This record gives sequence, structure tokens and C-alpha cells, in this order.
Amino acid sequence: MTILVTGGAGYVGSHCVAALLERGHRVVVFDNLRQGHRAAVRPQAEFIQGDLADRAALAWLFAGHRFDAVLHFAALSLVGESMRDPHTYLHDNVVNAMNLVQAMVRAGVGKIVLSSTAALFGTPETIPIAEDAAIDPGNPYGESKFMIERLLHWADRCHGVRSACLRYFNAAGAHPDGTLGEDHNPETHLIPLVLDAAAGRRPHIEIFGDDYSTPDGTCVRDYVHVCDLADAHLLALDVLAERSCRYNLGNGRGYSVREVVETAERVTGLRIPVRMGARRPGDPPVLVASSERIKAELGWQPRFPDLESMVRTAWEWRRRHPDGFRGAAAALAAE
Ligand code: UDP
Repeated sequence: MTILVTGGAGYVGSHCVAALLERGHRVVVFDNLRQGHRAAVRPQAEFIQGDLADRAALAWLFAGHRFDAVLHFAALSLVGESMRDPHTYLHDNVVNAMNLVQAMVRAGVGKIVLSSTAALFGTPETIPIAEDAAIDPGNPYGESKFMIERLLHWADRCHGVRSACLRYFNAAGAHPDGTLGEDHNPETHLIPLVLDAAAGRRPHIEIFGDDYSTPDGTCVRDYVHVCDLADAHLLALDVLAERSCRYNLGNGRGYSVREVVETAERVTGLRIPVRMGARRPGDPPVLVASSERIKAELGWQPRFPDLESMVRTAWEWRRRHPDGFRGAAAALAAE
């Protein structure tokens, strides 16, 4: 198949591009590089720098290629930032997705996999969270993804565009071959920040609140390896030949922020200085997925289900690329 990957230069997107290429698909990456990295895109993929807000660019993109399906990652994706700037999140994420889906409908492209999120579920009453749990986003980021899921629902009803909405819990880890990993600027995610503190690149890690109603008072999250997410996208693509679907993707096991720090100390063998800070607005205390449905229906089986292998692969990436893709691009240019 020929697959369009929006946001394919980003963290989860770039790992999915690698998985698609390994499976023998042709891949076209469309990314504005505001958060993504050119060096994160495997050279076998065609790369086009562009923005989903630019409808003319989208028309040109779809006129020049015959896509069999779209994987849509490109979005603003930070919970904290979305609480400070809700309207930019709601506007950009939803309008860009709308532009994409309209371009798909015009070009007759009938399959899309959406990078959705556990943030849809707000502060859920029942843990683990199954697909039919009540949707009540706790922050504008989650709300924007829910609006896109609804948009896709109507694209299916009215135009027969099939969609797979994959609600990731906390993506973590890095490609085991050491060439791809997490590199945000500024970095806000827990595991890369903890590893930077271990490496002495940051003075400490700040824990956002220890007064939650959890066993050790810090937030509990379900971490899922980025390559396992990529596998789920490939399975979802196959099922779109028959029907639309939505799945929660996690490991069904939560780890507190403190447990993440302890695991990172074990994996790195280094002491990680911790400071206690205030709660981060928009953070629910516990998010743990039930992924029984995708396991039963599509046979999804995580290859890296334990936090240790996520932290180990992330650490390996960090050690090989202390400056992230900036360093990778410089090394490439020097060759
Ligand atoms: N967190 C923290 N300190 C940090 C960054 C994150 O305590 O410097 C906590 C955050 O409050 C959340 C968890 O770590 O409970 C995971 O946060 P992250 O930003 O990695 O992912 P999110 O849950 O927002 O998708």
C-alpha cells in the first residue's frame, strides 16, 4: 500500500513509518517540522514539508499521489500547554484534521488511522479503562482528539471513510535498533526528563504533586512501548478493509511517577535527584487501559510490556544521541 503519514517526523509517527517500511509499504511523510525532525524520517520514505492548515498544499499532495490509507499523527499534544492555550489546541487540531479528511474524501481515500489519546476519559470511575467508558476529557488536548473522533464518525456515516481511533495511554521507549527515539523541544515528558536528570543534563526531576489519591500520592500512568503502538497501527490498517474500529492501547498496569524514577535509577545505575512540585493542571490521578479488545479482536501482543524495557530502550537512545536528532543530523552532515 501507499500510506500518507501526517506527523511522520514526530515521536510515534517516525516509529510507525519505520514499521510500515519494514512491512514493505510505500510511505509519504507530510510534516511541518515544527515539532518533528527531518532526521527521524527513514530515508526510504518520501518526505514533504507542509502544514495541514494549508489546504492548497493538501490538494497538491493528494493530486500527486494515490494513497491507499492515511495515518494521522500531526497535532499539538501537550496536556499542560492545552490548559494554558485551549483555543489554539481546539482550533488547530480540529481544523487541521477537518482539512485532511476533506482532502481524503475529495480524492476518494477511504481509510484513516487516528492517533488518539487516553485523555479522552478525564478522571474515569472504573480502572482499567475500556473502550466503552464514559468520555469526558479533562483537558482541551483530550477534547480536541474527541472532536476529531466525532468528525471521523461522520466521515464514515456520510462518506464511507473507515477509521481506526487508537487511544494511546503513555507512549514510551525507543526503537531497539537505537536509531529512533523521543526528542521534544522543550521536553515535557516524564521518562526523557528523568533520564536527563540521571545523565546530569538537568539538576533534578520535579514530581508534579504527591497528594493524589494513589498508593504513593503521585500520578499513575500506563506506559506503552512506541514500537508496540506501531504494531497496533499495522493491525488497524488491516482491519479497515472490513470496518471502522476504536481501541485503547496500554499494558493494563499502572506505574506511579515515583516508580518511574526508581525504575530509571535501576536501569541506569545512577541516582536521580527529585524535587516535589505542585500538581500540573489537567492531570488525572490514574490512567490505566484495558486493551483486552484489541488483543482479542486483532491479536495485538505487546513485545515490550514491562516498564524496564521501555526505560532501557529510551536510555540506549539517549546515550547514543545525547543531543537527540540535532546530533543525529550533525553526524549525518559530517559523514
Ligand atoms: N510528570 C512529572 N514531572 C515532569 C513531567 C511529568 O511529575 O517533569 C508527571 C505528570 O504529571 C504525569 C506523568 O508524569 O502524571 C506523565 O506525564 P507526561 O507529561 O510524560 O505524559 P502525559 O500523562 O501528560 O501524557
